Amino acid sequence: MTQPINTDHLWMPFTANRQFKDKPRQLVSASGMYYTTDDGRKILDGTAGLWCVNAGHCHPKIVQAIQQQAAKLDYAPLFQMGHPDAFAAASALTAITPPALNRVFFCNDGSEGVDTALKIALAYHRARGEAGRTRLIGRERAYHGVGFGGIAVGGIAGNRKQFGASLATADHLRHPLDLSRNAFSRGLPPYGAEMADELEQRLLTLHDPSTVAAVIVEPVQGSTGAIMPPRGYLEKIRATCDKYGILLIFDEVITGFGRLGAPFAAQYFGIEPDMIVCAKGMTNAAVPMGAVVIRQDIHDTFMHAAPENAIEFAHGYTYSGHPLAAAALLATLQVYREESLFQRAAEMASHFEDAAHSLKGLPFVKDIRNLGLVCGIELESIAGKPGARAYEVFSKAFWEKGLLIRTTGDIIALSPPLIISKEQIAELFGSLADILKTLK
Ligand code: PMP
Repeated sequence: MTQPINTDHLWMPFTANRQFKDKPRQLVSASGMYYTTDDGRKILDGTAGLWCVNAGHCHPKIVQAIQQQAAKLDYAPLFQMGHPDAFAAASALTAITPPALNRVFFCNDGSEGVDTALKIALAYHRARGEAGRTRLIGRERAYHGVGFGGIAVGGIAGNRKQFGASLATADHLRHPLDLSRNAFSRGLPPYGAEMADELEQRLLTLHDPSTVAAVIVEPVQGSTGAIMPPRGYLEKIRATCDKYGILLIFDEVITGFGRLGAPFAAQYFGIEPDMIVCAKGMTNAAVPMGAVVIRQDIHDTFMHAAPENAIEFAHGYTYSGHPLAAAALLATLQVYREESLFQRAAEMASHFEDAAHSLKGLPFVKDIRNLGLVCGIELESIAGKPGARAYEVFSKAFWEKGLLIRTTGDIIALSPPLIISKEQIAELFGSLADILKTLK
């Protein structure tokens, strides 16, 4: 029996709250690949929660690590002191990042991670005597969380327009989605690397390059509908940043921890950014945590620039490196290693790709794109009602087919836990195909 719910007090984030007045969708427990709803239905998790439960729900080793830590050390600050698991977790994290990225700043989620990385970029240039580097460059359709820095570099005007003032000075490159040339491409889209040339053009015509501090990109743009970089695109962005002394930040909040079949997109693409922002899969989402992993010499610049015994970077959070999060990170990394989950994702990717592209030809399907265990299925919009068709798919999936999927506009996004089996992949795409066939 469903318990009556009082909806008078909770303000749900990024939600049309009025839709839920009478009947909120509710998840009450989870295990492995499945959620259970308040009315006892099993829901196959096609999105790893919000791209974050990479090892599957309620993994016993992660649960146990958190429980033990909660009983042993509930809280300790990292200001002017520390605790053993914070140091151990930072070391364990750098064991899977590109070698030059060797310093970890802990925060609590992706938004804080992005704002932290942007602040490090600005402060780093200042410490080197280049205080004029204040401009930040992001991309259209980028999602970098909801901090003031993140919404400024983010490319979603709707996330900015209610707030207006106080935003950082940011410019935005075009996003690289080009359905005219790349629709239904499998893996990396073949066309469009030249879109990255826009960065150098802007530097030479609009902005003095010596005023630019950092470029931030999601290697795969997740929240706005699984936009993959065209082959060679990210390499060009890296080369241009190098040429003009601009830092390159990879926002790996969704691509980190095996989503593409490598620890980070940095390794998948063979590109070393100057900083990686991560969160989500870091603790398998069991405890909130985020981090910026920074090139050692950027960190060292701060150490050398500050006067002796002064605080080198005026930034930090009460819960930076929280003991529960640190314990969860250590346990999660161990699970990823012991169960070879990144490798498993790499092996499952081609099967996932084939299953995704089997939906080609179904009503209103205008593009299917995939990389690793990420897939975007773009539908034709209903005139004047953007997002309506995808929302119908979303609702039918949840209520009729027992699937958790995500939609953004008219795009369905899938990003299952890395433990998904071939049978579950068949279930996921088979049920989606059934729904698509019913659309009008
Ligand atoms: N960056 C990216 C690429 C994200 O996908 C997200 C969250 N979807 C964020 C930042 C923000 O993370 P959080 O919601 O944990 O603040």
